[in-house]
Amino acid sequence: MQNKPKNNDVKPGQTPTKAKLNIKTVFVVLFASFFFLSLLLSMKDVNKTYPEKPLTQIVQDIKKNKVKSIEIEGNKVTTFYKNGDGVTSNKEPEGGFISLLQQSDIDTSKLDITVKSIDSNSLIVTFLSNLIPTILMIAFFIFLFKQARGAQDSVFSFGQAKSKKYVKEISRITFEDVAGVNEAKKELEEIVDFLKHPKKYQKLGARSPKGVLLFGPAGTGKTLLAKAVAGESNVPFFSIAGSEFMEMLVGIGAARVRDLFATAKKASPSIIFIDEVDAIGRTRSGGAMPAHDEREQTLNQILVEMDGFTPNDQVIVIAATNRGDLLDPALLRPGRFDRRIVLDYPDVEGRLAILKIHAKGKPFVKDVSWEKIAKRTVGYSGADLENMLNEAAIAAARDNKTTISMAQLEEAATKVKLGPEKKRLQTDADKNITAYHEAGHGIVTHFQPNMDPVHRISIISRGMSLGFTLIPPRADRLHETKTHLVQMITSMMGGRAAEETVFGETTTGAANDFDQATRIARAMVVEYGMSPLGPINFGPTFDVTEWGRQSWEQNTISQNLLSQIDEQVKVIVMDGYAKAVAIIKKNRKSLDKVALELVKKESLDDEEFLKLVTK
Ligand code: ADP
Ligand code: MG
Ligand code: ZN
Repeated sequence: MQNKPKNNDVKPGQTPTKAKLNIKTVFVVLFASFFFLSLLLSMKDVNKTYPEKPLTQIVQDIKKNKVKSIEIEGNKVTTFYKNGDGVTSNKEPEGGFISLLQQSDIDTSKLDITVKSIDSNSLIVTFLSNLIPTILMIAFFIFLFKQARGAQDSVFSFGQAKSKKYVKEISRITFEDVAGVNEAKKELEEIVDFLKHPKKYQKLGARSPKGVLLFGPAGTGKTLLAKAVAGESNVPFFSIAGSEFMEMLVGIGAARVRDLFATAKKASPSIIFIDEVDAIGRTRSGGAMPAHDEREQTLNQILVEMDGFTPNDQVIVIAATNRGDLLDPALLRPGRFDRRIVLDYPDVEGRLAILKIHAKGKPFVKDVSWEKIAKRTVGYSGADLENMLNEAAIAAARDNKTTISMAQLEEAATKVKLGPEKKRLQTDADKNITAYHEAGHGIVTHFQPNMDPVHRISIISRGMSLGFTLIPPRADRLHETKTHLVQMITSMMGGRAAEETVFGETTTGAANDFDQATRIARAMVVEYGMSPLGPINFGPTFDVTEWGRQSWEQNTISQNLLSQIDEQVKVIVMDGYAKAVAIIKKNRKSLDKVALELVKKESLDDEEFLKLVTK
């Protein structure tokens, strides 16, 4: 979001350029003048460095007729000897040197004495040389202070003159740029209509919508939708992230809210977009979380501002969060964020539509099957898909291609979720083990009737893993069956089963598989009632409200029951393992073929895999 100008040191009554002058230029000028003055001073001093001698000795020397001339300047007496030496002495400010000489019976008329009045130049120099370091120090501290406050406002001006912070954005994004969220669009169309034709609603006495809460996982298009509403209704858009409200000093957040709303009202009809609203709107104290004054004040101010809207204000607040479960109920009351729009990961059709939007303007080879990509990218958000297309374009450019190929898309899809390939050096023995491990997952998956097809197997390491087997879940499955869960656990055991069967040895590579399998097994026993312990919830009890808010309390379970639960989890996992070993042993030939091919090619797609296992 580029609605915040970077210069935040604007004080009331100053233009931003002047403010810039103040900090940097003054600092530089001070530094330069200090540098030159000290240079000047040191040059002056070079001419004047004579050894010091007490006045009493000078008097002796005069008596001995060694002295040629004397210069008196202020409290400084410089004596030049006939042999060419020079010395300086300091006299008392009150005591005149000449009268001292006269007291010592010296005929001053015979001496060459020059009395210089203190030269005004040197006075200034002395003065400045004392003053400048002080000024410099002060300037330096102010500078440090401002730096430390960073993008925040100076303590002395908080709550003021910050209208400049909220630059209105004019959005050119429309609903056409957002895909796969048709219900959300339909609900937001009403808001657009209200912003476009407020009179129509006022005439009927309809209370204007005030707040819309967009609730959904990261990257599903919350920010995009808010901008699209602004673009569609052709009104200015003021945006700020919840975390930006939070400051070091209590009270700033609230002041910013006041400011933001005032600015938006002036520009009305308009939209205020508060991103990450959970940063401020978390459930207030009275719980595990300690009370947070600043958050509370900021939140209260938002509520006050929203309550204070008059029907003529025509300002709509859109807030976004991916933690709807954390929000304070006060935010959700009627007249506040009373419209809630839930966004979720797009389904196949949604993904297809999103892919088409972002594929525009990128050259692809003719045989790209968008349907296939849409099917394969289960669980990808809109942002993931956009990112994937971008990665594919980058890969094509890097390979000096003029079009983006299916293989590049495929690679990009994997990269977006699993991280880039790592060319980790694997010895042949390591490669062989990894190949058998992954082939084991593939084979056990393939030879179980209810499992989804293997999409890809690879022994190229990515992120933390040495290899992977991709089995995207079918998109149209709404219910998880016990059969499918058990088969999934069995597939997860396939890696270790293959290692054990082929090498008679176990490796650390299967730790992640066990973790996932155990989780599923535990959920089956504790939450889904899929074990002989019966349809009882042994875990936390959920109280899921309309849109995801959850509260829970731990059930009290006896030690005896706890060990029974553990026992059942163990039974499910061990059964899965036994089945996996059986499948591996029965299909050893296919396993060998796949593993061998994996060592050769490092990566197999669905067709290559199918050919190997069905032959
Ligand atoms: P969020 O705010 O929910 O985290 P964003 O709105 O910032 O997600 O989405 C990031 C980017 O992902 C968008 O700029 C857009 O390019 C793409 N994107 C996300 N969802 C969609 C969608 N439904 N349709 C089209 N593009 C999308
Ligand atoms: Mg966002
Ligand atoms: Zn594994």
